[in-house]
Amino acid sequence: MLDINAIRADFPILNQKVNGKPLVYFDNAATAQKPKVVEKAIIEYYETINANIHRGVHTLSQLATDAYEESRKKIQHHVNAKSDKEIIFTAGTTFGINLVANGFSSFLKKGDEILISAMEHHSNIVPWQFACERSGASLKIIPMNEEGDLILEEFDKLINSNTKMVAVTHISNALGTVNPIKYIIDEAHKVGAAVLIDGAQATPHIKPDVQALDCDFYVFSGHKICGPTGTGILYGKEAWLDKLPPYQGGGEMIKTVTFEKTTYACLPHKFEAGTPNIAGGIVLGYAIDYLNGIGFDKIKAYEKDLLDYGTKKLLEIEGLKIYGTAKEKTSVISFNIQGLHPYDIGVIVDKLGVAVRTGHHCTQPIMDFYGIPGTVRASFSFYNTKEEIDILIEAVKKAKQMLS
Ligand SMILES: *Cc1c(COP(=O)(O)O)cnc(C)c1O
Repeated sequence: MLDINAIRADFPILNQKVNGKPLVYFDNAATAQKPKVVEKAIIEYYETINANIHRGVHTLSQLATDAYEESRKKIQHHVNAKSDKEIIFTAGTTFGINLVANGFSSFLKKGDEILISAMEHHSNIVPWQFACERSGASLKIIPMNEEGDLILEEFDKLINSNTKMVAVTHISNALGTVNPIKYIIDEAHKVGAAVLIDGAQATPHIKPDVQALDCDFYVFSGHKICGPTGTGILYGKEAWLDKLPPYQGGGEMIKTVTFEKTTYACLPHKFEAGTPNIAGGIVLGYAIDYLNGIGFDKIKAYEKDLLDYGTKKLLEIEGLKIYGTAKEKTSVISFNIQGLHPYDIGVIVDKLGVAVRTGHHCTQPIMDFYGIPGTVRASFSFYNTKEEIDILIEAVKKAKQMLS
């Protein structure tokens, strides 16, 4: 088991009062808190080696470049990519998906199909709508059922030789559903389609193995895995990244520039125009080290325990309904109480120190599916406790009492 006291001591932000009550932070699916090692590494970077990378011959520039490239290698090993050329630093999941969708649209034509699922985050919907508008391709949706599982028989019917891209989330941020992505990837490859996996919600809980999955692209955000905001990773198979046109033009992504013609830099730099978030990229490596230091097996078991406990306790509240009851799910609980607006519940529990998310969670189609305006979402991390869940339960009961 985890040494929860030691872990909580790594997160100073948790040890404070909000609205006069001890903070209970249950908005981890929106962003994770940062351990001290991450905070320290940011300060240390700026106090010791801050310089622009891949440019100067001077010592600081070399040190910063080395640290940045070392972090890239660390992330390569973390996701088990074949080469560090396949690891592109981005500003986050949204940026990564836009990069792929934008470039991929140049391969599409009328009659081609892009397949996404009914439970995608807006970040994995809108860029593909852009790609379809640009190319004349059409967007198809893998439906889901009441429990919040994808309906695979429908997926089997939808996938065909016109399907060029299948873009699905590994884990739903609104429902917690863990999707059978290996099956989806294998079936997509049988018809020659590429596959992009949105790993934003999976990477806090799972160490992905991109070679075992055999996905073509895998994207995630640094800030959801205890790293800084404005950081993220796009993994792409080298062959795909070679083929894909660059996304942004500027410094760093070029080999030669004349006014007549520009040739592009090799991977990964082709997709890294301009001065990146250098400190962020370096520190993301520290965040990944921190999580691996705890161990994803332990994180998974601990969070499962929190999920089971939270689910049981919440369901004891009369009139409370949980959305997303897939057999395989992570520690995300979306719920509503009959007759009450999720926003009102969110405001009251905040007054009691409990931070939850309310609204559509950037997944409006899921809310439309259930015919609701939104949900209250409590998402647990490995630094949360059952005692905190008890506080949530009391807060929700209080909210119910006040609003009914
Ligand atoms: C958070 C999230 C995103 C968007 O990530 P950003 O860091 O905001 O770019 C996309 N997909 C899922 C499933 C998410 O949870």
